[in-house]
Amino acid sequence: MVYHGKNVLVLGLARSGAAVARLLQKQGAHVTVNDQKEREAFGDVPDQLEKLSIQLVFGGHPAGIVSERLDLLVKNPGIPYSAAPVQKAMELGIPVVTEIEIAYQFAKAPIIGITGSNGKTTTTSLTGEILQAAGLRPVVAGNIGTALSEIVETVEADQWLVAELSSFQLQGTIQFRPWIGALLNIYNAHLDYHGTMESYIAAKSRLFRNQTSDDVAVLNADQPAVMRLADSINGRIFPFSLSKSLEEGVFVKDETIIVRSNGQDVHVCRLDEIPLKGVHNLENVLAATAITFSAGASPASIREGIRRFKGVEHRLEFVADVKGVSYYNDSKATNAEAATRAITSFQNPVVLIAGGLDRGTDFAELTPIFQKHLKAIVTLGQSADKLSAVAEKAGVTERRQAGSIEEAVKMAASLAQPGDSVLLSPACASWDMYSSFEERGRIFKKAVHTM
Ligand code: ADP
Repeated sequence: MVYHGKNVLVLGLARSGAAVARLLQKQGAHVTVNDQKEREAFGDVPDQLEKLSIQLVFGGHPAGIVSERLDLLVKNPGIPYSAAPVQKAMELGIPVVTEIEIAYQFAKAPIIGITGSNGKTTTTSLTGEILQAAGLRPVVAGNIGTALSEIVETVEADQWLVAELSSFQLQGTIQFRPWIGALLNIYNAHLDYHGTMESYIAAKSRLFRNQTSDDVAVLNADQPAVMRLADSINGRIFPFSLSKSLEEGVFVKDETIIVRSNGQDVHVCRLDEIPLKGVHNLENVLAATAITFSAGASPASIREGIRRFKGVEHRLEFVADVKGVSYYNDSKATNAEAATRAITSFQNPVVLIAGGLDRGTDFAELTPIFQKHLKAIVTLGQSADKLSAVAEKAGVTERRQAGSIEEAVKMAASLAQPGDSVLLSPACASWDMYSSFEERGRIFKKAVHTM
């Protein structure tokens, strides 16, 4: 699309909004940015945009902001389609897209798009690490940090643009077409926004909508909901599976990761060479292997990238070994399901640090997990009593309550013996005590390092 002289409204001035406004303004579009927050919320970004002659409207969505004059609306992925200006644009037949659609149109490099309910950040980061090891000069962007629009012009045609994509971003795409698209899994998530499972799956499947037989679709062969999409995808299907051998794709056989392509089997690495813990992370490793093999990485460099990758911060992240006890930071586990995945990744006894914001759940599902894996528990935050009660029911006799992460680390250290692991996997959000799960995780790591 030619944007010169076009009237564009960017709805939502997050980082991606500012980036796409700049990108479109550079193409000669008349750009207005509208956000319901006040100007002060955005630091010096408004001043910078105004210097580029980008119009700014803050503090609400005035009625006339969307009119027939408008040629395009770029919507922040977090803004629902039911929002008044978006509704109005759709009524007027004005295209409504997300920022990745615009970025795509200016991309010189081939795009790898990675989506799924869980594991996006881990798989995207690992894909970057492997492509780096293979000398393919990837740039990692999207939902993971830098907006695509921010870097798209600087990524050269012989590089790879590796993008973590949410279903919210994908829902606003029209032409977007990744050379390699990966759908990791579909769980019952985000139904508050998408309404039904069908519309959630429909948003995710947009990743493949414009693919042709030159492109590759990496799919989780263990998930029927994912594989049901295969028939409607034109890209070459290159699946991965934890549980079975495949005619074509990536799977595990004899404790080894195998890539089977054109009837040939290639050994990538043994499972005991993978530093990441957990079955869920093995799935992410298989997905990243399928993606990077399709991008031309050699099996040797895939193995090297996997071995180098130490995980993403706050996601079952190894922190340190202190006096024979290993410490792990899984602060990102803000619900019981995520904590379950972390705890069950350990074969040795676990001293768990858990607790945080009380959302009214009773954590009953954790009882058998606690029973099987926990040696002791240190609870904290609003939900401390509830988690302690679950541990008591599970027969965990060593239970302590801490007032802070620092205190919790000291208590956990005194309860652990060489060979044990201390795991922060709170099963709760952090907002009762900390500003974010990142802050909570960092305080934990500092406490471990200064013991
Ligand atoms: P996302 O970016 O999709 O939120 P992350 O890689 O940040 O995913 O992982 C977030 C959490 O999701 C992890 O701490 C783990 O509990 C869970 N998880 C990660 N990978 C998977 C997977 N492949 N399947 C199921 N759960 C996963």
